[in-house]
Amino acid sequence: ISRVRGAPRPRLLLQGQRRSGKSSISSVVFHKMPPTETLFLESTTRIQKEPVNSFMDFQVWDFPGQIDYNDGTFDLETLFGDTGALIYVIDAQDEYLEALTRLHQTIEAIQRHNSSINIEVFIHKVDGLSDDFKLDTQRDIVQRTTDELADMGLDGVHINYHLTSIYDHSIFEAFSKVIQKLLPELGTLENLLNGLVSNCRIEKAFLFDVLSKIYVATDSSPVDVQSYEICSDYIDVVLDMTEIYGYDRGESEVSTVEETKSSVGSSEDWSLPDQSSVMKLQNGMVLFLREINKFLALICIMRKESFEKRGLIDYNVQVFQQALEKVFELHR
Ligand code: GDP
Repeated sequence: ISRVRGAPRPRLLLQGQRRSGKSSISSVVFHKMPPTETLFLESTTRIQKEPVNSFMDFQVWDFPGQIDYNDGTFDLETLFGDTGALIYVIDAQDEYLEALTRLHQTIEAIQRHNSSINIEVFIHKVDGLSDDFKLDTQRDIVQRTTDELADMGLDGVHINYHLTSIYDHSIFEAFSKVIQKLLPELGTLENLLNGLVSNCRIEKAFLFDVLSKIYVATDSSPVDVQSYEICSDYIDVVLDMTEIYGYDRGESEVSTVEETKSSVGSSEDWSLPDQSSVMKLQNGMVLFLREINKFLALICIMRKESFEKRGLIDYNVQVFQQALEKVFELHR
């Protein structure tokens, strides 16, 4: 259905050994679970196909580490066929040699079935590690993987590495990077954001998937952690408020299959009332949030002086919103 009605939605596979943190990651990122509550999660022992009701509407296939690719029980064509990215989670606080062996076997299996999958390694639970140790661990993992793949004759395979933890924003940032690589519209979105930023003298603009707090695109100025964090915290505040006092975002617990399958940016997603919200910060900056459609919100950081031309900003944001609607329309 999705193929007919919309651009194919990026599908992510989340894999790793038992207790590496897979269930925690999907609960924290997609179900707003507080990180400390993941201590009580049951470990994954089966393949879980979770529909995620957000802008991307992608699925996280959370499956345990102990899969044998060669025993024929898995239809690897189906598993890897439509997958955009494989996220392999490694517990950096634990012995990881076995996890690496599994990773290398997985990469080999992927190369046989769908070599266009992006391979993303999350070096996870780094909150417990010192900065030096983090980098050493990453260096070690990269080195071992590069050597091993070269031995297997797979030296052309490109792998991305991310240091992640559910206790800070790093897990969201890593997901942003993973998702961005899978969006065919990304270049256009960035151009639109660049236009907006220069017309309104904005310091930084993000397009966020509200429910997951993953940013889907940003203008091309560099992302600094602080501005990202403040935007993401701001979404939390606004979400909490709307949840209590606001209107129904349509994210009811029991989403029907039809809802989950609706394609990105279908027309009804755009028909919600425009909500915006402004916060002046102590340091003379202003945070401006504007809902773009059911799933997406634009968040800008700008100087107080730039925000004085509110009419100009509203006009440009409206133009941006219309352009975005067209972009998704084209891809439908
Ligand atoms: P799974 O078997 O791969 O699904 O692993 P779980 O999600 O059940 O996680 C195993 C344990 O790791 C849980 O006790 C989590 O609280 C813990 N955990 C997950 N992510 C992190 C992290 O980023 N940092 C720390 N310190 N612990 C984590």
